[in-house]
Amino acid sequence: MAEHKGILVCGELANGKLASITTELLGCGRGLADDLKQELSCLLTGDAIGGAAEEAVTYGADRVYKVEHASLKEYEPDSYMQVAEKLVNEISPRAVLMGQTFMGRDFAPRLAFRMGSSLSTDCIDLSIDSETKMLVQTKPVYGSNAQAVFSSETYPQMVTVRSKAMSPIEPDSSRKGEVIPYEVDIDISKVRTKTLDTVKEEAVGMKLEDAPVIVCGGRGLGGAEPFHTTLKELADLLHGAVGASRPPADNGWVPESLHIGLTGKIVAPDLYFAIAVSGASQHTAGCSSSKHIIAINKDPEANIFREAEFGVVGKYEEVVPALTNKLKDLLAK
Ligand SMILES: Cc1cc2nc3c(=O)[nH]c(=O)nc-3n(C[C@H](O)[C@H](O)[C@H](O)COP(=O)(O)OP(=O)(O)OC[C@H]3O[C@@H](n4cnc5c(N)ncnc54)[C@H](O)[C@@H]3O)c2cc1C
Repeated sequence: MAEHKGILVCGELANGKLASITTELLGCGRGLADDLKQELSCLLTGDAIGGAAEEAVTYGADRVYKVEHASLKEYEPDSYMQVAEKLVNEISPRAVLMGQTFMGRDFAPRLAFRMGSSLSTDCIDLSIDSETKMLVQTKPVYGSNAQAVFSSETYPQMVTVRSKAMSPIEPDSSRKGEVIPYEVDIDISKVRTKTLDTVKEEAVGMKLEDAPVIVCGGRGLGGAEPFHTTLKELADLLHGAVGASRPPADNGWVPESLHIGLTGKIVAPDLYFAIAVSGASQHTAGCSSSKHIIAINKDPEANIFREAEFGVVGKYEEVVPALTNKLKDLLAK
């Protein structure tokens, strides 16, 4: 059996730079590689990668494989597979890390199948077992009510990692690493899908995934208007973003892109306001990794108070404007 060595991060780009999930994966991968006393590699694909490969070195990669090809402009599984399969077979990593992102959710199971390996999705913690040197993979289960720990005996050990679950290392421009232009003869005849059109999500303010503060509203808000007024005012004041539970998105009060939970976005901001949200497990699955949760709900029995660190029982119409005004006063001092 070939020796499996090192950690490989399959990176993603956003606007020509490393996506934040990639810097987080590199931070985590750096720690795992150090524990194994092995190397950390990063695969970057795109039609023009620019300085992102060098950026990956500053974030901890020892070696960056850079594949530039017109067919890699957008994520497309058949061309990506030709690249990743070739590289993984060639460098034989012990573990492959990807983001629990649109691309990672789609691509990681395909690659794991192709490699005859297994995959743990949506991990929130990774470590190396000091005796067996296996990758220990922790992920939330049962709607985040429990955590399960997995390991697998097949290589490469493959995982996708939840956004914001890991921290990047401080980028260091003096770090040394190798950037390797990696040639792959992509067979376009094997590419079965093509992107006809790309519709950019309307970006109003900060992206939910990047926001340090999220002000989330639920069905109890009763309509679209408070999302644009009461909640937005609080979010703007704290340089945060407005989010929603599923019913507001289903009812068309907010765009689907604001929907947080099991079937929406998984977020982990420093501060999460849950306003008129009951706290169903499918919702808390998307926000329970937040550092601090503050709940505002008129029902003292609402489940969200079990998740929250601080809670206010009251009508949001009264509590939120009072809170916003108080914060304005404090911030003005
Ligand atoms: C397979 C599946 C997947 C799902 N995925 C998701 C998901 O990803 N995300 C998600 O959010 N849900 C999801 N759901 C739905 C989930 O089960 C809940 O129905 C949903 O989270 C409830 O949303 P809510 O808390 O906004 O509404 P409700 O449960 O109706 O709660 C509204 C809350 O507002 C409070 N309230 C009302 N008026 C006021 C007021 N004036 N001031 C203060 N408080 C007030 C009420 O006391 C109540 O607690 C999923 C369900 C299923 C079956």
